[in-house]
Amino acid sequence: MRILVTGGAGFIGSHLVDRLMEAGHEVICLDNYFTGTKRNVLRWMGHPNFELIRHDVTDPIRLEVDQIYHLACPASPVHYQYNPVKTIKTNVMGTLHMLGLAKRVKARFLLASTSEVYGDPLVHPQSESYWGNVNPIGIRSCYDEGKRVAETLTFDYHRQNNVDVRVARIFNTYGPKMQVNDGRVVSNFIVQALQGTPLTVYGDGSQTRSFCYVSDLVEGLIRLMNSDYIGPVNLGNPDEYTVLELAQKIQALINPRVEIQFKPLPSDDPQRRRPDITLARTVLGWQPTVPLLEGLQRTIPDFAERLGVPYTPMMV
Ligand code: NAD
Ligand code: UDP
Repeated sequence: MRILVTGGAGFIGSHLVDRLMEAGHEVICLDNYFTGTKRNVLRWMGHPNFELIRHDVTDPIRLEVDQIYHLACPASPVHYQYNPVKTIKTNVMGTLHMLGLAKRVKARFLLASTSEVYGDPLVHPQSESYWGNVNPIGIRSCYDEGKRVAETLTFDYHRQNNVDVRVARIFNTYGPKMQVNDGRVVSNFIVQALQGTPLTVYGDGSQTRSFCYVSDLVEGLIRLMNSDYIGPVNLGNPDEYTVLELAQKIQALINPRVEIQFKPLPSDDPQRRRPDITLARTVLGWQPTVPLLEGLQRTIPDFAERLGVPYTPMMV
């Protein structure tokens, strides 16, 4: 098949490209390199099945493809809040253009949506039937509301134009190839611990997240794309940790002497987040297989290598 991956030079996108290329597909990777980098897909440069296009999804594009994984959008709060208007444009116009492309060439379209559509959830854990608790005017809204509109557009193209769609609601995902300056919690703590600077816990660290290792997530995306279920489907690891517990785990794995420093909690930071993955288990036969400790042990050496810092695994 010929498969388009928007945001394919980013963290999740590049792991997805790896899996699709290894399966023998033709892959077109489209990216504007805002938070992604050519380095992430360097191993495929020159391969006859691989094509890299520098393009911004807020502009339309004509391509011939069978499937579209639409991931283009900055995912870290630091990056999506850098230019919030551009983040909304990417989510609204970018998704519109990719749905228009899917409609024209009759391609199947998968939207990488997010657990952020649940906002600061009043229901726990979050199942797909929950409509969410999102602030429409806060600093996270460009991303949360942008993705909610992207979901709406996806379902409207499906109802109105018969576009074959899939919607994945991705929960916090981590792993090798996240940018060193990504700004999300797992990469921040790993970089800080490796560099011997204090781990910055926002608030008192009692807020929770559920962290999914990237290979598990990519398996879920591919299964959803090739299933008959339209979605939305939660994809994430239901093992829930406080941010302070995560800091302590990374501290123990890298450098027990590094300090933990408490910083102000950003506004609208969700207090709890854990996916209910009953639907993914039922319709996709999918569940995560990599526990947090193992995922961190697979991730840390990649950061150490890129930072040029020696790393000897600690026994925990
Ligand atoms: P990322 O920032 O590493 O990747 C996003 C990619 O999209 C980057 O390569 C970036 O350069 C590209 N991009 C951004 N704006 C673009 C534009 N206008 N045109 C073309 N390319 C553009 O983030 P990620 O973690 O790999 O996330 C990928 C997708 O998954 C995003 O849509 C994100 O919202 C979604 N998601 C990720 C997580 C997570 O925990 N990683 C959670 C929920 C949802
Ligand atoms: N966080 C933190 N220290 C950091 C970065 C993030 O304590 O250096 C917290 C952040 O306030 C949030 C959680 O970790 O409560 C997850 O943040 P992230 O940016 O990774 O993703 P989010 O789920 O908030 O989009």
